[in-house]
Amino acid sequence: METESHQLNVIFLPYLSPGHLNPMVDTARLFARYGASVTIITTHANALTFQNAIDSDFNSGYHIRTQVVPFPTTQLGLPDGAENLKDATSPDIIGKIFYGVSMLQGPIELLFKDLQPDCLVTDLLYPWTVESAAKLGIPRLHFYSASHFASCATHFIRKHKPHERVASATQKFSIPGLPHHIEMTNLQLEQWIKTKDEFSDLMNEANESELRSYGTLSNSFHELEGDYEHLYKSTKGIKCWSIGPVSAWANKGDEEKVTRGHKEDFAQDSEWLHWLNSKQNESVLYVSFGSLTRLPHAQIVEIAHGLEISGCSFIWVAREKDEIDNGHIFLEEFEEKMKRSKKGFIIWNWAPQLLILNHPAIGGIVTHCGWNSILESVSAGVPMMTWPMFAEQFYNEKLLVEVLKIGVPVGAKENKFWTSLGDDAMVGREEIAKAVVQLMGKEESTEIRRRARELAGASKKTTEKGGSSYNSLMQLLDELKSLKKTNIKI
Ligand code: UDP
Repeated sequence: METESHQLNVIFLPYLSPGHLNPMVDTARLFARYGASVTIITTHANALTFQNAIDSDFNSGYHIRTQVVPFPTTQLGLPDGAENLKDATSPDIIGKIFYGVSMLQGPIELLFKDLQPDCLVTDLLYPWTVESAAKLGIPRLHFYSASHFASCATHFIRKHKPHERVASATQKFSIPGLPHHIEMTNLQLEQWIKTKDEFSDLMNEANESELRSYGTLSNSFHELEGDYEHLYKSTKGIKCWSIGPVSAWANKGDEEKVTRGHKEDFAQDSEWLHWLNSKQNESVLYVSFGSLTRLPHAQIVEIAHGLEISGCSFIWVAREKDEIDNGHIFLEEFEEKMKRSKKGFIIWNWAPQLLILNHPAIGGIVTHCGWNSILESVSAGVPMMTWPMFAEQFYNEKLLVEVLKIGVPVGAKENKFWTSLGDDAMVGREEIAKAVVQLMGKEESTEIRRRARELAGASKKTTEKGGSSYNSLMQLLDELKSLKKTNIKI
């Protein structure tokens, strides 16, 4: 362990949604494991979702702790404990949580001053932290929890605007500047790229602050998308350290896999786990749309029928909307029917995803192509049925299906956040069943399974001593330490 005066003192500031919080907490734990003194700033309800891991690391001798700032829940009239975008069951709650996050800037800046850090690692959605770091004369690392592929694709679309030269929203255009020929449609692009609104302003600030940061810390790894890592560095012209996949690196034990990102323990004797233990290797499909998405009733019905038609065994994480509609009753009845026929289980609202993905019985995932779910599936060697929904997920699908060739597309067409999804189904039962069979059928999926296994091997090696992500993290820590030693103000 370093002597205290030489020990790096690093603050991590994660955004309040699991897709941003989980990888940053894992990264913070890795920094502490390799010698830094780490403080994670967050709110009370969010701290509860990872405090067990922090306590356990602390008790193992690492310098890591959580510093809580109060979230203005009462002031904003939010339900108790609604401090994370995953808690939002309506657009109104989402708006309030977003606003609540912006209200934290003042108290957080005071903490930065009090804690005297040597470096700030902050989420891309906190562009103002680049100024905070400048005031303190320390480096700010821009924490990017998405793919280099998506970052490069967005960069070139914004630069060359190929989407403005097509005749319709469904006409394909190719993205200039990428090493692969990738085609998209306007429908698949994020709204903020096409129209100016509050979110596009935030993203513009995020992009600008990225370029003014000391460098980018990315949850990706060289063997997965090395071409795009190089392209990212050369187009943005900033330093970048790829240190992923952090979830597999930081959470090696079963206990960590069960509790990662959630405050309640999952009973080891739950019915679905017994059932999963009884299934053959690679025979069960895991269905998850991430931590935020809540699907319309009509789509839920199509998924249920699609799974049933496919004949494949499954575990499906279902999330409810505010209005308890007939969707809930439909799903409960479906769940009962599936349990009786021993075909599948529904887990309500939140599942221990790392545990499930790493279970030998899991042979595939239906994923919304959130970057964390992708990395977690890659680490577990699980091929994917791709069903992108919003944000940069349509780019991620291209990476999985066309570049890495470890994904089977279901045929999703439109980029929409769940709050603006209508009551109609986006993908029908027949298309769903067809893609499931293609993914889970042993003959159909031989090649994608082989490639998924290969990448799982690479993802393990990259975080071992001498691996590319391991080396990246060590180099970064050395660089930060020498900045501290030489007392250079950034
Ligand atoms: N997650 C989980 N259980 C769930 C849903 C999500 O553990 O039931 C975790 C998942 O493992 C991942 C994160 O939440 O770490 C979701 O991030 P991702 O980038 O995949 O998608 P997002 O939720 O941001 O759309």
